[in-house]
Amino acid sequence: MEFWWVRERVDGHTWKLLKEFSSRQAADDFRAAKIAEDPAHADVLFIVQAGGSATKLLRCSECKQEPGAENPGAEWRVYSNGTVGLVAFCPECAEREFGDS
Ligand SMILES: [Zn+2]
Repeated sequence: MEFWWVRERVDGHTWKLLKEFSSRQAADDFRAAKIAEDPAHADVLFIVQAGGSATKLLRCSECKQEPGAENPGAEWRVYSNGTVGLVAFCPECAEREFGDS
């Protein structure tokens, strides 16, 4: 099973996983819709192929919870800073850490 992540570049080393898709077409459609909303997204949104579901790999770095069926990962923030791999925050912790959702 392959997954496609739409991710947003925050800075040179930090990425935010916006949403995970199981098809490239769905990822393309999501990115196109975001760019239609705000053309600036064209410069920061990228689609990458992932080896596995981020939803399954994730564990919040703050509260250690894992995404469940009612909490399916799409709202999670996943950063890659190039040194410690992926750092994930569940929606609640992300809001506390970053002040938005
Ligand atoms: Zn958390």
